[in-house]
Amino acid sequence: MSAHTQSVRVTPADAHNGRLVSNLHPPDWQNPTPAPRYNLVVIGAGTAGLVTAAGAAGLGAKVALVEKHLLGGDCLNVGCVPSKAIIRSSRAAFDAKMAGDFGVRLIAPSQVDFPSVMERMRKLRADISPHDSAERFAKLGVDVFLGVARFAGPDTVEVAGQTLRFKRAVIATGARAQQPPIPGLAEAGYLTNETVFNLTQCPARLAVIGGGPIGCELAQAFQRLGSQVALFHKNAHLLDREDMDAAAIVQSAFIREGVAVRLNARITRVERNGGEKRVCYVAQGKEEAIVVDEILAGAGRAPNVEGLNLKIVGVQYDPRKGVLVNDRLQTTNPRIYAAGDICLAWKFTHAADFAARIVIQNALFLGRKKASALTMPWCTYTDPEIAHVGLYELDARERGLEVDTYVREFKDVDRAVLDGEKEGFVKFHVRKGRDEILGATIVARHAGEMISEISVAMAARLGLGRLASVIHPYPTQAEAIRQCGDAYNRTRLTPKVKKWMSRWLAWQRGGLPR
Ligand SMILES: Cc1cc2nc3c(=O)[nH]c(=O)nc-3n(C[C@H](O)[C@H](O)[C@H](O)COP(=O)(O)OP(=O)(O)OC[C@H]3O[C@@H](n4cnc5c(N)ncnc54)[C@H](O)[C@@H]3O)c2cc1C
Repeated sequence: MSAHTQSVRVTPADAHNGRLVSNLHPPDWQNPTPAPRYNLVVIGAGTAGLVTAAGAAGLGAKVALVEKHLLGGDCLNVGCVPSKAIIRSSRAAFDAKMAGDFGVRLIAPSQVDFPSVMERMRKLRADISPHDSAERFAKLGVDVFLGVARFAGPDTVEVAGQTLRFKRAVIATGARAQQPPIPGLAEAGYLTNETVFNLTQCPARLAVIGGGPIGCELAQAFQRLGSQVALFHKNAHLLDREDMDAAAIVQSAFIREGVAVRLNARITRVERNGGEKRVCYVAQGKEEAIVVDEILAGAGRAPNVEGLNLKIVGVQYDPRKGVLVNDRLQTTNPRIYAAGDICLAWKFTHAADFAARIVIQNALFLGRKKASALTMPWCTYTDPEIAHVGLYELDARERGLEVDTYVREFKDVDRAVLDGEKEGFVKFHVRKGRDEILGATIVARHAGEMISEISVAMAARLGLGRLASVIHPYPTQAEAIRQCGDAYNRTRLTPKVKKWMSRWLAWQRGGLPR
């Protein structure tokens, strides 16, 4: 055994964060004595590393897991978990503000107690943390090493002065927020996902850089929690990788809620003036500036490839895209695999999870599993949410596939009308001439919950016509999925079939139609 050298601090240093750290990077942790050789050495204990390590150990492999910071990685500590906790609070605040629309007139003014919102988040994050704890993984039979890992030779990894020999290794070191190349930004200081959840006071004025999923989710949440948010995006509309109609709905919700959306915007420089920051930018050809209290950078992710000594083991990487892998998630060194944000274009926790499952089979059991065979859904947790699975119409066209598109708008779905959630839709792209779902997008308050039905259908190769025969309880918003199925089935009622049906019915009535 040997003591690890680094200690980790998460601010504010309250009881919740104390619990978090004692689970995920225990200050008194003793690194074990390394085994003579490991079946698998896993570098990084985010979702990809944890799932790989737990799964492999469960199947009897001798596994070492190395983490330099907090087990759980981005998702638990500075990603999905804290963001979804504060998004939930921001929804509660928004619902209270909009209660009058539901006939519920609240008399007291609604001002959010931001420190309580953040404390709730810290508590819930600490409550969830035992699942990813060093102690739990040690109990699962994994040798947990705390410290910075790097390759030291063709089959060795070094950590905290110890050498781990491996038969196979997995790089699961994730990604971090990219620093936007804006003059003056670093000097003025800015927040990223690594620091924003440490806030205990709500910034009165907040500039968010980046109109992708992370920027949009946090911009809306902070606006609802009491900040005046300005959201800067370099392109012509927010969430521009999503279905355009879907993104447009979210964008109008943002504008309605008072987010100052600046599109086609290029921030030219940032200047610090005492406690304030002046953001100078050009948007639609005009030079302008705003003064804010904090800036949050949420534009792009950079893979954590540095310091791993990848060159000495022949693992090729691109500083922007990360470690290069084939469809079986094998790097350019056949003994080394990668999983999660370090190598995937899909930067999601569930993608990291399923990549890890592929790696276990391929690295340890001569498996031939392919990442391209995954049916990958995702969701952006704005309000309304945008959830998607499969191909967008544009992707389908690029692959030379012709599609028929079926849309059901929530304004025509009873439950959505009753919920006051008429904005949004379910949209299916079906291969022309076949009952084969190629992709689908849902815009709804709980789109993330609804998309799985379509993922199941796609994974099981059930067509849209079959979804029409699945009974959905009334009234639910998910009825919109079945109604798209009905619309699909109506298109199969060709004039010829209709003619035969009316002849049959006429015959039943005792005569033939004229
Ligand atoms: C604000 C935000 C919100 C998000 N929300 C969602 C969401 O709602 N849903 C969703 O699916 N995804 C979400 N994501 C994405 C999700 O967090 C990531 O896709 C996921 O965490 C990737 O897991 P990973 O294991 O690949 O990497 P990570 O979680 O980044 O883990 C990598 C680990 O490797 C460690 N490490 C790095 N280098 C070394 C080294 N040399 N030695 C030892 N350890 C090392 C790091 O410390 C880290 O713990 C969000 C991300 C952010 C930033």
